[in-house]
Amino acid sequence: MQLDEPGGRTERFLSVGRGPWGHVSQTEWNDWRWQLRNRVTTLTQLEQLLALTKEERLGVQLAGHHLALAITPYFFNLIDVNNPACPIRRQVVPRIEETQPAAWEMADSLAEDDHSPVPGLVHRYPDRVLFLVTDRCAAYCRYCTRSRVVSGVGEQHLETDFTAAFNYIREHSEIRDVLLSGGDPLLFSDERLEHILSNLRAIPHVEFLRIGSRIPIFLPQRITPELCAMLKKYHPLWLSIHTNHPKEATAEVREACGRLADAGIPLGNQAVLLRGVNDDSAVMKELNHKLLMMRVRPYYIYQCDLVKGTHHLRTSVRKGLEIMEALRGHTTGYAVPQYVIDAPGGGGKVPVGPQYILAHDRQRIIIRNYEGKVFEYPEVLDEQPVPGTVRGEAAVRAPYSNHAICS
Ligand SMILES: *Cc1c(COP(=O)(O)O)cnc(C)c1O
Repeated sequence: MQLDEPGGRTERFLSVGRGPWGHVSQTEWNDWRWQLRNRVTTLTQLEQLLALTKEERLGVQLAGHHLALAITPYFFNLIDVNNPACPIRRQVVPRIEETQPAAWEMADSLAEDDHSPVPGLVHRYPDRVLFLVTDRCAAYCRYCTRSRVVSGVGEQHLETDFTAAFNYIREHSEIRDVLLSGGDPLLFSDERLEHILSNLRAIPHVEFLRIGSRIPIFLPQRITPELCAMLKKYHPLWLSIHTNHPKEATAEVREACGRLADAGIPLGNQAVLLRGVNDDSAVMKELNHKLLMMRVRPYYIYQCDLVKGTHHLRTSVRKGLEIMEALRGHTTGYAVPQYVIDAPGGGGKVPVGPQYILAHDRQRIIIRNYEGKVFEYPEVLDEQPVPGTVRGEAAVRAPYSNHAICS
């Protein structure tokens, strides 16, 4: 790795060198299809690049039957090969613990299959759907929430019925928001992705489109000017990236996010709280600061789902709350995401956070700030009429009766 620019705030965004792939041309290295074709997918390849620990070697041999191994050369070069505890390594190199699920872990911990009206569509919330358009990613996160269907070797297969999905969205006028995910939708060619986006845009009640993708992180080369020019035709279109550690915020990622932002695409980040990766308030703060510099708004921090074989990567909720406490008030509000637990069994995302309300009754609310100082705010009685309204004028003469005047 070399410094992007000496001095100034950009020096924290390192450019990723070709490393062991020094023999390939820069043109090939910058070509996203070359990156995909040359992913590290076998034990032999990985052993040539990295001195694996026993746990990792067994992990590659055994866990590969549950969630495939794949790492793009670009992302591989972020791994500190001399450090078995490297936070990048922990996210993508399988470990034997993956094959030892805890008793409370599940294949489909969010009960997505039970909330699928048609194959590939998850309709959990009243006004929006999750559209699983592919089961493939550029690289595989070892804590994948959809490891049951993703990568092609899991216990199930994703069989998205596109015609049925489009029909379902068309027939359900309450759906105003469609979230494309998978797998990673940006793995599709521009043409294939445009076909999906244009079909959705043709449905009048679909107001809001968004894509969930880790490709800007695993494969920033994919974010070509052509892709951005295509995406911007389908506004309002938002994109959520997924990054967990400040090391992932490289010069390449910053440029990819810049191209997306310049195409008018608002960017958010969804991080997963992971043990030995980002279970530390200083790490999380640095990540969120780097995201702001890349014009990405930290959106969610997820408590790690109860997916089979992820126990070794899970942190306590207590730790998550501690991190949130260290962010709120101590740094830019835009750098403070919402911490959520996606409720096991399919309850959806539930916000959790430190308690700032100490007491609350009809007369007052007692709150504390980020420094622990306590404040009182007098509570308002909503039953009192609003001055200047018909209800308010009437109330001057007659005591408040009911809500009929406003309705
Ligand atoms: C996360 C999720 C969404 C989107 O939730 P937001 O809070 O609106 O970002 C929609 N559907 C499903 C099934 C989800 O898991």
